[in-house]
Amino acid sequence: MGMLEIRDLSISYGQHRAVEKASLRVAKGEIVVILGANGAGKSSILRAAAGLLPAMPGSSFEMNGRDITNCPPDEFVEAGIALVPEDRAIFAELTVQENLKLGAYPKRARKKAPDNLARVLALFPRLAERPRQRVQTMSGGEQQMVAIGRAMMSAPAILLLDEPSLGLSPLLCSELFRSLARIRSTEIGILLVEQNAKRALAIADRGYVLENGCVTASDRSEVLSSDERVRKAYLGSDGSSINLR
Ligand code: ATP
Repeated sequence: MGMLEIRDLSISYGQHRAVEKASLRVAKGEIVVILGANGAGKSSILRAAAGLLPAMPGSSFEMNGRDITNCPPDEFVEAGIALVPEDRAIFAELTVQENLKLGAYPKRARKKAPDNLARVLALFPRLAERPRQRVQTMSGGEQQMVAIGRAMMSAPAILLLDEPSLGLSPLLCSELFRSLARIRSTEIGILLVEQNAKRALAIADRGYVLENGCVTASDRSEVLSSDERVRKAYLGSDGSSINLR
C-alpha cells in the first residue's frame, strides 16, 4: 500500500475541469514524477495533495491508511505532507536560520526541531555554512535549498515539489537532484513535478503522464523513458530534454 494514496482526484476552477479522476500514490523512499505539458494540471494536483485546493466530491486522500479528504491544510501537514510551491514561499528578508525555524510549526515537529535542523543542515551543507545570510542575497539554487529545507523542518513523510529546478544553472540543478536522492535515502517519499523530464526520469522510481488533467500512463521510470510517445512528447526524439515552457 502506498503511503500517500490519491484516488479519483478531480479539480475544477469554476466551469473549467483542470483534473479528472487522477489516481496517484507515493510510498516511502520513492521519487515519483508527474510529467505533463503546460496546463495539464500538475500544480493543481500538488496543491490539492497539500490540502490547499478543494477537490471535487468523489476524490479522496489517504495518508498511511487514514482518510484526510476535506481536512484543513494544517492537518495535511500534521499527517506528514509538505509542499514546496513553485514560487518557493520563503521569506526573503529573513535569514536562512529564521526561515528554517519557521518550518518547524507542526506539533509533531516542534519537539524535534533541533534534530530536524541538524538533519536539514547535513543534507544541505551550503546552508550550514551560512545560517545568518539573508535569503534574498542567495542564488536561486540556494534559495531552493532553503525552501526544501524549510519543508523538511516539518519532518514530513511525503514531500511535494513543484518544479524545483526552475531557473537553476545546470550545476545547481545537478546539486539539487543529488539532494533529492539523499532525501529519498532517508525514507521520505517525493512527488515531483519537473519540466526537466530527462533528469526527472533519470532520478525517479516511477512516473505518471498527465494529459489534459487525466493520467494517461503510469509506470516505472525506465519503462516511461523508453516509451515512444513519452520520448516524443517530453524527451525530444533524440532523447535530449526539451524545455516545455
Ligand atoms: P504549468 O506546467 O504551466 O505550471 P500545470 O500542469 O501545473 O501547468 P495547472 O497550473 O495545474 O497546470 O493548471 C491546470 C489548468 O487549470 C490550466 O488550464 C490553468 O489555466 C487552470 N487553472 C489553474 N489555476 C487556476 C485558477 N486559480 N483559476 C482558474 N483556472 C486555473
